[in-house]
Amino acid sequence: GEQLAVLYIDIDEFKSVNDALGHPIGDELLKGVADRLRGCLRETDVAARLGGDEFAVIQTPIKDRSETTRLVAEIHSAIRQPFECMGHLITTDASIGIALAPSDGVDLDQLLRNADLALYGAKGDGRRTYRFFEAGMDQRAKTRRSLELELRQAISDGSLEAYYQPVVNIEDGKISSCEALLRWRHPERGMISPAEFIPIAEDSGLIDQLGLWVLNAACAEAVTWPDHVRVAVNVSPMQFRSQSLALNVAAALAACGLPASRLELEITEAVLIRDDEAALDMLHQLRKLGVRIALDDFGTGYSSLSYLLRFPFDKIKIDRSFIRDIAGPGASSSIVQAVVNIAAASDMTTTAEGVETEQQRNLLYILGCTEMQGYLFSPAIPAAEVRRLLLS
Ligand code: C2E
Ligand code: CA
Ligand code: CA
Ligand code: CA
Repeated sequence: GEQLAVLYIDIDEFKSVNDALGHPIGDELLKGVADRLRGCLRETDVAARLGGDEFAVIQTPIKDRSETTRLVAEIHSAIRQPFECMGHLITTDASIGIALAPSDGVDLDQLLRNADLALYGAKGDGRRTYRFFEAGMDQRAKTRRSLELELRQAISDGSLEAYYQPVVNIEDGKISSCEALLRWRHPERGMISPAEFIPIAEDSGLIDQLGLWVLNAACAEAVTWPDHVRVAVNVSPMQFRSQSLALNVAAALAACGLPASRLELEITEAVLIRDDEAALDMLHQLRKLGVRIALDDFGTGYSSLSYLLRFPFDKIKIDRSFIRDIAGPGASSSIVQAVVNIAAASDMTTTAEGVETEQQRNLLYILGCTEMQGYLFSPAIPAAEVRRLLLS
């Protein structure tokens, strides 16, 4: 059986710890984290700060990995309670990689290395989770690191391209906007899905550059479209960490002369999950510029109807998972109906994502949904094709 577990813990913070590191508030926060970590341990366990916002815990003795899973759950719940630091309420989370002895290594060096690889895997899963080390993680980490380097280059060498997916009015089928969706044509791997490279960009800090690139490309494209067609751009929650988001948006609009009212920013509820005043303030700044704000992927993740009350969105995009099941026996159609009703009562429109069949379209029409997007009408297509479609 196993004898000990090494946990490699990386603290994540919704408002960047990195910004706070070196400032008194970051130090105090990390001291608080260390205290709570220790509070989860037994006398025989050990915790150490590895530097930056990383910690190691050695849990010993253990009988099997379920004891470690339990400890991880305790650590997560301890760390997820907000911290009161010098008058600020800061919420943190942690990604955790785990290596076990003797199966994953016999000396501490090797165990830490493998726990770090597992941590890398945990972050790849969409951070704030945990992973046990597995054979093959080494290879995957290498692939990921090389993708990260190549992505950095792709931004400048033209292998990134924005495709556009039309969003149409359900009633008359007219195109009201087009959503910019990134495509990466990799020289060896072919097309890489944004579902794969956006998380890498978020992890490596490249997302700001990437977001800026797509924003500028989309605005420049949209000026060639008829005046009544808007362009929608996805904005990662991470981009809300930067104070200059609103400035960048204003600059992109000005650079190509696109009226703000023709730009729509799609954000996910992750932006609103924590009581993050700065993010909410940024949303208001963006709104003041005159751009429209849509709540994307509604119904997934942490969704709750209460998010709809935190900010006066212009539009709610109902996640594909509800549309897929809408004709089925489950609650999907009642949920869509509820969202449509709430939206209508608050002057928001609704867009159904991932509409693939006539049957889905007809049901959505009956339920009162405003717009739809999906393969039934068109997938995301290259800019030149969208232009042809719009100008024909
Ligand atoms: P999303 O914003 O929810 O975009 C919709 C996704 O659903 C797109 O996948 C689109 O191609 C796909 N889709 C549209 N209609 C249908 C349909 O009828 N059936 C099915 N099965 N799928 C449909 P895509 O282009 O692979 O993008 C995946 C995700 O990557 C996006 O989800 C978005 O979260 C992210 N993403 C893409 N481009 C950007 C970007 O420029 N910035 C950021 N931050 N994220 C982006
Ligand atoms: Ca971190
Ligand atoms: Ca979107
Ligand atoms: Ca979506």
